[in-house]
Amino acid sequence: MSEKIDCAVIGAGVVGLAIARGLALAGREVVILEAEEAFGTHTSSRNSEVIHAGIYYPTGSLKARLCVPGGRALYQYCAAHGVNHRRIGKLIVATGPDQIEGLKKYQRQAEINGIGDLRMLTVNEIAELEPEVRAVAGFLSPSTGIVDSHGLMLAYLGDAEARGASLALASPVNSGAVTGDGIALNVGGNEAMTIVCNTVINSAGFNAQAVARTITGIPPDTIPPTYYAIGHYYTLSGTAPFKRLIYPVARQDWLGVHVTVDLGGRVKFGPDFSWIDRIDYCFDESRTAAFYEAIRRYYPGLKDGALQPGYTGIRPKITGKGEPAADFVIQGLRDHGIKGLVNLYGIESPGLTSSLAIADYVAELLKN
Ligand SMILES: Cc1cc2nc3c(=O)[nH]c(=O)nc-3n(C[C@H](O)[C@H](O)[C@H](O)COP(=O)(O)OP(=O)(O)OC[C@H]3O[C@@H](n4cnc5c(N)ncnc54)[C@H](O)[C@@H]3O)c2cc1C
Repeated sequence: MSEKIDCAVIGAGVVGLAIARGLALAGREVVILEAEEAFGTHTSSRNSEVIHAGIYYPTGSLKARLCVPGGRALYQYCAAHGVNHRRIGKLIVATGPDQIEGLKKYQRQAEINGIGDLRMLTVNEIAELEPEVRAVAGFLSPSTGIVDSHGLMLAYLGDAEARGASLALASPVNSGAVTGDGIALNVGGNEAMTIVCNTVINSAGFNAQAVARTITGIPPDTIPPTYYAIGHYYTLSGTAPFKRLIYPVARQDWLGVHVTVDLGGRVKFGPDFSWIDRIDYCFDESRTAAFYEAIRRYYPGLKDGALQPGYTGIRPKITGKGEPAADFVIQGLRDHGIKGLVNLYGIESPGLTSSLAIADYVAELLKN
């Protein structure tokens, strides 16, 4: 069976849902195609749920350009739509003198990225704000917060559906082709069919490269390689010792074992970072000792036995070990030569924070 539709969004994660919402609000007919039996079961529900201020990202990068306005838009959206969130603030701390230069680097980058509210703290101020934290220097990012990612996705989906969009679950896109009449997608599942679309948004998370490779007509040299990096989260039993998020100065290519407080006041530590070859969310408990060691650098009061294995998440990377961290890659007509097609690759952190800004960016690309 074959059907003609206006827009298909492949992937019902937070980014696909934000894009579908944007297109539906603009009056387009939208079908969201999701391989799984529920929305948001992959990266969008396996993350830190932090609304990032946009401190770290390189000057002019898409991450910097989309995170800062995306975060502001997200706060407004959550407030207007009753999505549970809290602007709890974040302390970034140096645990030794060798990390102070790292702190200063963040501060300079934050200023370039347009974040004007960072406040340097004295050791006494750190102790007043977070008595359990040991640090030699630090600053406060008051505009960092937390959000209920499931509630957010539900709200995006609700907005999209209210404007006529539909979500097709258990509907994997298996292949496709760019034709003279639009982009044809072969959708599997119980009611397998081919749909021919004016517009296709490939927002399939860490599967986006694989999906693009099955669509005949997309130039293969525009599709980046695929890498995965897993992160583990441990939860803390007992009363929360912190009120805010605590991030140690980053080591290497990730933000370190940081503290996140969720909306229920529970504390979790993570994620760590390891390259993996395939998608497997299995929790590797051999990391426990390394977590205790990393956390005790800034939280010496952590008691033996207080950490419990939590969950894992997998970063959809497009550069591998030893290569510089990549920016978001969002390709439109100018990049691959196909009208009506947008491919999103490497949408790792801060993709949740940036979701509304990514949706606006995609809408602009489609005007070409
Ligand atoms: C450990 C970790 C921590 C993070 N922490 C934060 C944070 O605190 N703040 C922040 O802003 N960002 C954070 N992020 C990033 C954020 O979670 C992601 O950027 C965001 O969730 C990506 O959403 P997505 O919709 O692109 O991908 P996904 O959520 O992975 O959604 C893609 C969807 O596509 C579907 N799909 C795949 N293949 C097909 C197919 N062939 N046909 C149909 N559907 C398909 C999948 O089933 C999935 O539902 C974190 C990421 C990780 C890994």
